[in-house]
Amino acid sequence: MLTSLVELAELLALRTSPQRAIELLGFIPPSALEAMRLARFRRTLRIAAERSTFYREQFRRRGIDVRRIDHPSQLGDFYTTGEDLRSHGPDQFLVRRADTAFETTGTTSPVPKRVFFSRREIADMGRLSAIWLHLLGLRPDDRVVSAFDCSFWVSPYVVRSALDLLGCFHVEAGKIDAGEFYDRAKQYRPTVIFGEPSWVVRLSEIAQVRGSWPLKFLFAGGENISESARLAVEETWGAPLYLNYGQTESFGALGAECRIQDGYHRNDFSFFFEVPVADADGYGEVVYTTLSYRVMPLIRYRSSDLTRLVDGQCQCGISTGRLAKIRGRCDEMVVCGMGNVGPWVFDEVLRGTTCIGSDWQAVVGHDGTRDVIVLHVEMESHSGQRAVETRILTSLRERFGDFWRNREMHLYELRVIVHPTGSLRGHGRKLRRVVDQRQMRSDPSVLPM
Ligand SMILES: [Zn+2]
Repeated sequence: MLTSLVELAELLALRTSPQRAIELLGFIPPSALEAMRLARFRRTLRIAAERSTFYREQFRRRGIDVRRIDHPSQLGDFYTTGEDLRSHGPDQFLVRRADTAFETTGTTSPVPKRVFFSRREIADMGRLSAIWLHLLGLRPDDRVVSAFDCSFWVSPYVVRSALDLLGCFHVEAGKIDAGEFYDRAKQYRPTVIFGEPSWVVRLSEIAQVRGSWPLKFLFAGGENISESARLAVEETWGAPLYLNYGQTESFGALGAECRIQDGYHRNDFSFFFEVPVADADGYGEVVYTTLSYRVMPLIRYRSSDLTRLVDGQCQCGISTGRLAKIRGRCDEMVVCGMGNVGPWVFDEVLRGTTCIGSDWQAVVGHDGTRDVIVLHVEMESHSGQRAVETRILTSLRERFGDFWRNREMHLYELRVIVHPTGSLRGHGRKLRRVVDQRQMRSDPSVLPM
């Protein structure tokens, strides 16, 4: 009964104006929201067990009777991974007919993960996003230009759905060169700009030289950003840069920052978040279960992102729980200005470069404004450094168009450093292939920049 009332409030909130929706959702007591989330979890689990080939088979093999499960933690060590999505394929996860799909690339494999949705889900997620953008101050008289990448990526569609509801002026630029964007977007006098963080940094560098114009805020999603880079962007525009946290698997809508910018407010209506294994500070891999997906539910999906759950009221006054700023990735994949890169990317870039040894290490750092990827390789003689660099850049251009394009847009810098043969691994030290130095202070297994 309580759950039905909460769901009714949510339904009304999704059908009314953002302002009324905020008032309506504010009336829901936390205990009622929790009851609704658990009811939705049980429903999702039942549907997945009945209709999804993957989950039915997994639960059967593990002897899990979903009728006896009331809370995600009761599933023990059962999780869904990105590798499950990749190796079993989306069809095994479907519980209903899909009418759209998006992809996420990178991680530890060149094979993209494909995630299916319905248009109704896009509309609902768009409505929730509209409520949030309204909270951040977006109004019908604002003028938005978005530079989100439209290629197989979910975010531009959710943004469009949100803006349709908010009724503001909107131009879709796609992810183009920031200089070209600057010239063309300026003509529309945008008050709000959407883009990926490293791209927004590049745009701001251009604006610093050529002049900025008044903005209400910038909104970035798709990767992390250092606080120093965020500050540089905000100083350039005299406006806040808000971050969104999401994955394609989660429809890009796990959480978003409020004006306090202290972690992401969780989307507790649509996801059940857990950090099942945490360190003393509460940090661990965040795992989520989708609560309202009608097409492709995910049970305890491992995000690979390290963070912690923050409960209690935020300074902004909104009482929903938050996720702390992401500390890093659990696997070796690194999200940076180059794109989503993992060991396989550099293996492929170096393939065929015969004069270098088989040991290498890529270190992702940050020089204050942009990401710097230093590729350490081994060679008998230093004299071949220039030739190796040229060969690597050619290979990057030919094999990874997207990563090359991001380099052309100055979203990152790629440096190559040659070391004497056998020196990278040191004394039997295990060599980590890709290291995100932006996340760590001192680590003896990481090479200097
Ligand atoms: Zn807040």
